[in-house]
Amino acid sequence: MKAVAVWPERRQVSVEDRAPPVIGSPTSVRLRVLDVGICGTDGEICRFDYGGTPPPGEDHLVVGHEALGEVIEAGPAVSSLSPGDLVVPIVRRPCGRADCSACRAGHPDFCETGAYTERGIVGAHGFLAEEVVEEERYLVRLPPELREVGVLTEPLTIAEKALRQFLEVRRRLPWLRQATDSELFAGRTALVLGAGPVGLLGCMLLRLRGLSVTVYSRGPAGERRARLVEALGGTYLSTADVPTSSLAERVGRIDLVYEAAGASQLAFDALAQLGTNGVFIFTGVPGRKHHIQVAGDVIMRRLVLRNQIVLGTVNADRMDFESAARDLVGIRKAWPGALEALITGRHPMDRFCQLAGDGSGIKDVIAVSAP
Ligand SMILES: [Zn+2]
Ligand SMILES: [Zn+2]
Repeated sequence: MKAVAVWPERRQVSVEDRAPPVIGSPTSVRLRVLDVGICGTDGEICRFDYGGTPPPGEDHLVVGHEALGEVIEAGPAVSSLSPGDLVVPIVRRPCGRADCSACRAGHPDFCETGAYTERGIVGAHGFLAEEVVEEERYLVRLPPELREVGVLTEPLTIAEKALRQFLEVRRRLPWLRQATDSELFAGRTALVLGAGPVGLLGCMLLRLRGLSVTVYSRGPAGERRARLVEALGGTYLSTADVPTSSLAERVGRIDLVYEAAGASQLAFDALAQLGTNGVFIFTGVPGRKHHIQVAGDVIMRRLVLRNQIVLGTVNADRMDFESAARDLVGIRKAWPGALEALITGRHPMDRFCQLAGDGSGIKDVIAVSAP
């Protein structure tokens, strides 16, 4: 069986031959991997910047964390999945430490010790292999109609968790404690920073929830990403045409900034544009290369005088994967072809590193097995 693995000590990434995995516990499931998406984290692994940590006692890590697979064998105690089912695996595994209340409660995305593992990133083999074995409880079933776009489930979970946090934060306002989710979203305006896959999926989810959305990014107006935002009923503004300092004037009161660009200067400049009672959510991880100038007094004054909240979010819970699966169906129904347009190419395994370092496409996918 073919798999893509990274050897950190040798600083090498290559396609290798491995023995196919076997079902090891009665609750595990063997999958044929269909698609694996590539993202910025894979680029960092290929550059030996971050992640790529082999499991304990091993010298290499099988990469790939944004996977879509098909069940080919289910252990005798598996109750919810059977051969032929389309599934997406959850990435993070609990740290197992007694002092981590988050992992103990089943929410390792909030792990308090940092000793979690993530399949394909840190300490556990990933999914960029022809077959993988996974425990039933870490798999989320998708309807068959999501075969072509199901690989976007994991990147969509970033927005799912972020919006869940947004609702929690909105509910702190005393007159909204009992409000329904749709009441909390109603009439709100969001600014999305960045038009990569995380930003565009965020835009789709925010539009699906009924918010007015403006996407602000580097690319010129009129190009593919801008046209996609407009097809979703959003507005696209290019950093080349509109200075960050005039965003609130252009967009109106900004209730939510969904940061998905990983660019700290842009993010902190946009933070000064956040409206009263607004929420700013960081999802991007910038490099560690340089210091930036920040209008600290302006930002601090507004944070206080406008009751604002800034939060960061990483990873996602099982419930976010489940809502992503539902919302992919909803997005496909609302804007046919929009999700498909995010997948800019399907490639063979040996192109993993080249694509991980490239970034010119929106979402490049390794097509591991034909449907
Ligand atoms: Zn990713
Ligand atoms: Zn933990």
